[in-house]
Amino acid sequence: MVQTLNRLQYQSTLMLAALSLSMTAASADDDAMARAYQLSERAYTLIEKNPQKAAELLWQSAALNPNDGNTQYNLGVSFSRLRRSQDACNAYRKAVALEPSEFDYWRALARTYVECKANKNALWALSEIRKRFPSQAKQLSEELTESMSSESLAAPSTSKSGATTKDQPAIESRIAQLRILLASKPNDGQLHSELGYWLGQAKQYKAAIQEYNKSTALLPNDPQQLHYLMWAQGKSGDLEGLQASRNLYVTMFPKASDIKTIKDEIAYYGTDFAQTRSNEKARQQGGKSSDNASYKSVQMPLKVCLPVGSVLDGKYRPYVQRACTEWAAATNHRLRFVTVTNPADAGLVCQWTNDKSKLHHSFASGETHQGKNSAGDDQATVYLLLNEDNSVDDKSFYDTCLHEIGHAIGLSHSSNPADVMYYASNTENGLTTNDKSRAHDLYCN
Ligand SMILES: [Zn+2]
Repeated sequence: MVQTLNRLQYQSTLMLAALSLSMTAASADDDAMARAYQLSERAYTLIEKNPQKAAELLWQSAALNPNDGNTQYNLGVSFSRLRRSQDACNAYRKAVALEPSEFDYWRALARTYVECKANKNALWALSEIRKRFPSQAKQLSEELTESMSSESLAAPSTSKSGATTKDQPAIESRIAQLRILLASKPNDGQLHSELGYWLGQAKQYKAAIQEYNKSTALLPNDPQQLHYLMWAQGKSGDLEGLQASRNLYVTMFPKASDIKTIKDEIAYYGTDFAQTRSNEKARQQGGKSSDNASYKSVQMPLKVCLPVGSVLDGKYRPYVQRACTEWAAATNHRLRFVTVTNPADAGLVCQWTNDKSKLHHSFASGETHQGKNSAGDDQATVYLLLNEDNSVDDKSFYDTCLHEIGHAIGLSHSSNPADVMYYASNTENGLTTNDKSRAHDLYCN
């Protein structure tokens, strides 16, 4: 990269040349250093109140001692205060060249590039930061890419439709920038990882998987890359790829803190995914899946036992009732539900709990256990997991309700990530056509 000399640096160079001509004695050099130090110290106390004066003093100091990274950094801070972003960039650029191990200098440089809308330079600074300060890089990267998006969003937009299309141009331009960067650095694992992230934001999960496959290979010591890969595989419905990545994770990071959970997932989903595939194959070929209706028509309306009394109960009961209504509609009301408070003869018992020990699987946010009630009929108990502080975000609580009640009425998992019955459901609009038709098949045929 060609470095441009700005006016200030140019003057500093001239002054330095003048100084080196006139000052040959070591003591004169020492004097200059001492003077530079004093100027910098004084400037430092003025940055907040009088950045203009601080910049002048720092400029004089830098002329006397051009190799002090801290002076350049403070000069950058003063310029930032004065909203002279371009000058600030130049000072920070010098600061990181002089003191490349100072994270604060790099952060200031990257932030100021973003302010100047110099996105390409900002991405360059970020990639340097990732190399030098891997532990701090992630947060900064998120913060900056956020503001880069809002910068782009602040620009006049021709689109007037929903949020997705509004964000889309910013995400697409980030993807394009990263592809350009990768053309010259095809072996930069962090760049592949970042591209994977933005492709994921654009919901291009297959393409994200390709990038995370590369970042995983290029950064073999970073378990996070495999987590990103597994995330994208889960999102795209690549069930077999996901299982393969889990196995790879166990091989590569046998001492990872989450290794038990990953092993549990491998064991559970080994059976579950195979079942899902064979069910779907059977349905496609016009045969019957192994799904069975849990409830008989004589049990209708099905008694649903919900806890009453506490504030928590008041908060979560309506979600369960709404989920029941959705499933009832999907079955042309062959399934009908009535809320009760006595679990003895209920067909469905719901509990919300923050006690993880009630769930069999460490990775679950909800679980349905099948049993019998006092009348000898099928009784499903649905556990819906809350956080330690008895909270959970409303949307995911409702998602889990719908999904678990789907199991309770007899449905197994689907392989389509859009479905409520997908193993990791995260739906936008409730039951899909596929969810509804499966429930319909169970209760209306
Ligand atoms: Zn499930």
